Amino acid sequence: MFNKNLGQHILINPLVSQGIVDKAGLKQTDTVLEVGPGTGNLTVKILEQAKRVIACEADARLAAELTKRVQGGPLQHKLEILHGDVMKRDLPFFDVCISNTPYQISSPLTFKLIFHRPIFRCAVLMFQREFAMRLVARPGDSLYGRLSVNCQLYSKVTHVMKVGKNNFKPPPNVESSVVRIEPLNPPPPVDFAEWDGLVRIAFSRKNKTLAANFKATATMQMLEANHRTFCAANGRIVEDGFQIKGAVLGVLEQLGYGETRASKMDIHDFLKLLSAFHDADIHFC
Ligand code: SAM
Repeated sequence: MFNKNLGQHILINPLVSQGIVDKAGLKQTDTVLEVGPGTGNLTVKILEQAKRVIACEADARLAAELTKRVQGGPLQHKLEILHGDVMKRDLPFFDVCISNTPYQISSPLTFKLIFHRPIFRCAVLMFQREFAMRLVARPGDSLYGRLSVNCQLYSKVTHVMKVGKNNFKPPPNVESSVVRIEPLNPPPPVDFAEWDGLVRIAFSRKNKTLAANFKATATMQMLEANHRTFCAANGRIVEDGFQIKGAVLGVLEQLGYGETRASKMDIHDFLKLLSAFHDADIHFC
C-alpha cells in the first residue's frame, strides 16, 4: 500500500506528531509549508494552530486522501495541496516548514530550504538519525563534516527528539530524529561556491592535516588555474616563478592552520581561512 521509493513511512504516534508541531512554536498568523503530508496526520495538527498550510505531496493518491480527510470540515479552507515533487518546484512564501521528510531527499531539501528567500523563521524536520546527527555535529564529533559546516554556516541547528522505528507504519530500517533549523537572519555574506570549495578540500581526508590535504596535486593545479584566471580578470600580474604551493602553504602557516585537522575546526576558523586565501588572491572556484 505504501510506496517505499517515496519514503512513505506514516507517523502513527500522535504524541510524536504533536511534539513536532509544538517545537515549531506556531503563531495563528503563520503560513506553514509541509513537505510530504501523506495521509495528513501532521497536517491536521498544524492546521489547528496556523493560518494556512501549503502541503506539497508527490503521490496523487495520498494527496486525494488528504483532500478527503479535511473536506467539508472547518480546516478545509486553510489547506492548499500542491501535487508534485517538492524538489522540482519553486517554493511558495512560508513562515515555518514542518516535515516528516522522505529520507531520500534529506540533503537537497535541507539546502533548498536554507537558500530559500525570503528567509523563514524555522523548520522542524524529521530525518534519519545519522543524517540529523551530521547536521548538528560539532568539531571533534565523529560525524562532523561538510554537511555540518555548510548547514551551520547559515543556520542554528538543534536536535529536538529521537523517534524510534515503531512510531511509523511501516517501520523504516533506521532510527529517526527531529531537528530544528533556524536560518540566520541576515545570512552571513559568504560566497557559497567559494566556501564549499574550501571546505571540500579541508574535509577531503578529514583526519589529515590541512597542509596534507592542500598538497594533493589536483588541488594545487586547480588553485593555480583559479589564481591565474582571477589575476587576469582583475589586472594583477602573476610574478615570474610564482609557486602556488608556496602561496597556499604560506597562508596556512601564517594563520597557524597547517597542522590543524578540519575535524577540529569550527565555522569561524573556516571563515578566517577563506578570508586569508582571498587576501592572497587564492580562490576556490
Ligand atoms: N507526513 C506524513 C506523516 O508524517 O505521516 C508522511 C511522511 S512520509 C515519511 C513522506 C511523504 O513524502 C510521503 O507522503 C511521500 O509520498 C512524500 N514524498 C516523497 N517524496 C516527495 C517529494 N519529492 N516531494 C513531495 N513529497 C514527497
